[in-house]
Amino acid sequence: RIAYVNGSYVPHGEAAVHIEDRGYQFADGVYEVCEIRHGHLIDETRHMDRLERSLKELRIDMPMSRQALGIVLRETVRRNRVREGLVYMQVTRGVARRDHAFPKPGTPPALVVTAKSVDPRKGEANAAKGVGVITRPDNRWERVDIKSVGLLPNCMAKQAAREAGAYEAWLVDKDGFVTEGSSTNAWIVTKDGVLVTRFTDFGILKGITRTTLFDLCAREGVKIEERQFTVAEAQEARECFLTSATTIVMPIVSIDGRPIGNGAPGSIATGLRAKFHEVAEVAA
Ligand code: PMP
Repeated sequence: RIAYVNGSYVPHGEAAVHIEDRGYQFADGVYEVCEIRHGHLIDETRHMDRLERSLKELRIDMPMSRQALGIVLRETVRRNRVREGLVYMQVTRGVARRDHAFPKPGTPPALVVTAKSVDPRKGEANAAKGVGVITRPDNRWERVDIKSVGLLPNCMAKQAAREAGAYEAWLVDKDGFVTEGSSTNAWIVTKDGVLVTRFTDFGILKGITRTTLFDLCAREGVKIEERQFTVAEAQEARECFLTSATTIVMPIVSIDGRPIGNGAPGSIATGLRAKFHEVAEVAA
């Protein structure tokens, strides 16, 4: 495998950043994960838009132009011969002598890009069976709309899910409402067939898959309500599912051990999964 690190393509096993990289010391950086399907980047424009927004919120410069970054992404995908998989990009505030305050202007941000193949049969097998989720308190900071590499609460929640034999942890705020998953957005389907997902403010990441699913639902005439929902409402829902670039639309069959619907993947989630790539942007 090959990784891109600050201007060079290097063997993955030798790819390294400086010990004073602010991503390493302060989680002072942001990232994006983009699906590769049949060798093409999916929803590149939206991922680039969100990367630029995250950087702007943290006052980190773009490491290079959008166009140049697009070339690096494609070259990393090509050098790793990825047809089905993921491309990961991370931008940090760069390398500087350790000090909480920002380094002096002109310090170049650091860019790392990796790409890996993922066997699409794994996702399809999970979707065919459906996945289980557990719930955990949402103890993250109050700006999780920024896709920062500070993911310790998310890692703790995901590990708890793993140890419980579940696929994902849904995070629950102090008022008892589900915000999102540790690395996915959360959805339920009401008895009337209406999709419900939490509104976007500073309290969740506005998923690209979530946004593209809005497009698909508009095309299909499926109604979406953007509002909060509780764990109890989810457990009584007709269907539940999660979305992300790595999972697309993944049906949920249990929450904290309680079966959803008849305990099998729902037809609405399964149908939306099948049609997702008819509306997603396929980059050249
Ligand atoms: N929420 C969180 C916390 C995430 O980490 C992710 C995945 N990056 C998502 C939602 C889903 O976003 P996307 O559809 O852009 O992958």
